[in-house]
Amino acid sequence: MALSEFDLIERFFVRKNGGNPFIRLGIGDDCALLGFDDSVELAVTTDTMVEGVHFFSGADSEAVGYKALAVNLSDLASMGAEPVCATLALTMPQSDASWLRRFARGFFDLAQVWSVELIGGDTTQGPLTITVQAMGTVPKGEALLRSTARPADLIYVTGYLGDAGLGVKIEQNEVDCSDAAVLNRLHRPEPRVDAGLRLRGVATACIDLSDGLAGDLGHILQASGVGAIIDWDKLPLSDAVRHYIGESRDWELPLRGGDDYELCFTIPASEAAAMERRMADLRYPCACVGVIDRSDGLRVLKDSNRIQFSLQGYEHFS
Ligand code: ADP
Ligand code: MG
Repeated sequence: MALSEFDLIERFFVRKNGGNPFIRLGIGDDCALLGFDDSVELAVTTDTMVEGVHFFSGADSEAVGYKALAVNLSDLASMGAEPVCATLALTMPQSDASWLRRFARGFFDLAQVWSVELIGGDTTQGPLTITVQAMGTVPKGEALLRSTARPADLIYVTGYLGDAGLGVKIEQNEVDCSDAAVLNRLHRPEPRVDAGLRLRGVATACIDLSDGLAGDLGHILQASGVGAIIDWDKLPLSDAVRHYIGESRDWELPLRGGDDYELCFTIPASEAAAMERRMADLRYPCACVGVIDRSDGLRVLKDSNRIQFSLQGYEHFS
């Protein structure tokens, strides 16, 4: 049987720490952390986008260039890191100047927002595949990890959930709707770097939502050895997603839909009010959706029922 994405990483690529003191955190979180002194750590992450898997064939290359960087900055955001630079490995079937012009415009539009400098990469011929590696800095000891959530911490998410999942259904003609805002959320997600910076030293754990809340919160639960209960009625939903769920009864969309690139974080209840005040000037909301407990796994409270929810998010090869 084919191994799933996470099983194969665990089996073939996770090795015993070689003891190099510069490596502060290896495989298993949104970024690795390197440290060369006692003041700053470097957060490093890489993500690949493949035509036909991560974006539709023939997609506007401006959006592809934007998103290739956005998904990496989202991983930096989830660690509380401040973006510094990126590398770009580009594999394309042919060198098409108009495609490249738009791709570069999308990439650098976002790079400019966060002062990210492109410092290198690789260019090759082959099936369209884009790999970006992003690097950012965080004061030593302040990076937000997946493994440090504690029982009784509150669970928060930024923005709205399920928009990107609905966008995929619209693109695949499964849903009759052409809400430009929803499609924009799928094609041009805004990495929540500013939220991540405000959560340094405050959140107990954090992850970005690339594979759906159930799967990604599941990574926090597994890494931290805790469970959680989510109150479905508290999930922040856009009008478009609310309307879609009302018509389809597909209430799992905001829990399972991927590609939202919001942050999910945990915080002690005693710190929540001050954090909410600090987040109040952001352009997007920040909502409490549940609580960490000592149980095993994830339960969802909906219509007075407690539903045991599987932790599986989107996985390649599964
Ligand atoms: P994210 O969704 O935050 O980008 P992933 O779910 O892709 O993270 O990866 C989970 C963890 O496994 C990360 O720490 C990532 O760096 C690591 N990882 C993924 N693929 C490989 C690989 N082929 N070799 C080594 N580490 C990997
Ligand atoms: Mg991530």
